[in-house]
Amino acid sequence: MSNAYIDSVYKNLADKHPGETEFLQAAKEVLDSLEPAIKANKRLEEAGLLERLVEPERAILFRVSWVDDSGKVQVNRGYRVQFNSAIGPYKGGLRFHPSVNLSVIKFLGFEQIFKNSLTGLPLGGGKGGSDFDPKAKSDDEVMRFCQSFMSELWRHIGQFTDVPAGDIGVGGREIGYLFGQYKKLQGEFSGVLTGKGLSFGGSLVRTEATGYGLCYYANEVLSQLASTSLKGKTVAISGSGNVAIFAAEKATQLGAKVVTMSDSSGWVYDPHGINLDIIKEIKLEQRGRISEYVLKSGSIGCEYQASKKVWDAGESIWSTKVDIALPCATQNELELEDAKLLVKNGCQMVAEGANMPCTPEAAEYLKKHGVLFGPAKAANAGGVATSGLEMSQNSERLSWTFEEVDEKLQQIMKGIVDDSLAAAEKYGKKGDLAAGANIAGFERVAEAMLAQGIV
Ligand code: NDP
Repeated sequence: MSNAYIDSVYKNLADKHPGETEFLQAAKEVLDSLEPAIKANKRLEEAGLLERLVEPERAILFRVSWVDDSGKVQVNRGYRVQFNSAIGPYKGGLRFHPSVNLSVIKFLGFEQIFKNSLTGLPLGGGKGGSDFDPKAKSDDEVMRFCQSFMSELWRHIGQFTDVPAGDIGVGGREIGYLFGQYKKLQGEFSGVLTGKGLSFGGSLVRTEATGYGLCYYANEVLSQLASTSLKGKTVAISGSGNVAIFAAEKATQLGAKVVTMSDSSGWVYDPHGINLDIIKEIKLEQRGRISEYVLKSGSIGCEYQASKKVWDAGESIWSTKVDIALPCATQNELELEDAKLLVKNGCQMVAEGANMPCTPEAAEYLKKHGVLFGPAKAANAGGVATSGLEMSQNSERLSWTFEEVDEKLQQIMKGIVDDSLAAAEKYGKKGDLAAGANIAGFERVAEAMLAQGIV
């Protein structure tokens, strides 16, 4: 880093939280890119803006006890990090996955500040979750866990305070159980969670929004920076959850061919294009494994490759020859070796559907070698943007049509591309979508923090 102020803020953070590797990785990436904006405005340093920005306003850690189907008591850990409320109530998903810890939740909450700001909606940044693993649990077990989790969380959230949503391991089923318990404890029906079922205040398009938004973003970037589109492109997607499935659906609708998808056990390659009906049946209806795809599809030339991690070096999903790569599974799933393979195979664009799926080295390599790089906080902001639209509908007690919401989502994603490119150009980083997204997101939050004084 070449800026003394940024350097000292990051050093202090790293000294204070040496074990929080994911959070430090996210903070460093953002801080580094803010240098031109910090240089241009002395007031930011005088107001201790960055020191305040990297410190969550509140972090709640709690015990979640529940009883499994065999009658055994289980104990998990719950988290909610309320990072920044300068521009609106805290907003960000809940993740249920065994890998969840404070560092992971802090990295996600920190990223959420800038992502939410970029949408142009009045949404602050937060994130939460638990090390609970919903995989292989019965519906009753998931319900008891969600009820216990909400028995603590409810006192910290509210429609004007903090509005959680889903993330890895938290889909419609979990949101339903969480909402039911909140309503019972609070004694009120309000839009306290987003991603709700359509029968109790959910918004059309919310389920599809992150994946659809990712493709709208990718198409807009391709159009503005390369005079092309997704039409006719071959696409690799990792993951087979909410984001991956609806990214694959929209990419296909826009004329691309999706040839790979994965889960945490391995990945499939289908040269004829992934049959999404089969993926939805396996992953959404049966909660099964993606390896079943090969037999079920009967597609000639289709292969399954088991991997300890989706990103096993050299034989990962990213070794496939594609025009576009959309990592949609989890953080740090696309490493330097994968980036080298993508470049070697002529990949034109990587847009991040998951949060921080590319390691810093991979992202740097891709950018250096002319690959269009769409950072998560811009590319996957369609989910939270549509959550913001769900909040608006809840407040006005109305439901908008699919077309209305989809149209707004497309406008928001275009706005994010425009704002990112404009900020990048203004600060001498023309065409750098990552720096542009960080600076554009930061400027709005910083302005609000300055206006609100030292609090
Ligand atoms: P889901 O739980 O629906 O799906 C996650 C997918 O990624 C599954 O296929 C899962 O495999 C795989 N996966 C998860 N963790 C790992 C891991 N450690 N190693 C390998 N594979 C893994 O989650 P979402 O689709 O909602 O979220 C995916 C990403 O998108 C996350 O980074 C999330 O933060 C981000 N995101 C999600 C948004 C949303 O609206 N849902 C909004 C913005 C970002 P398996 O089935 O085997 O577990």
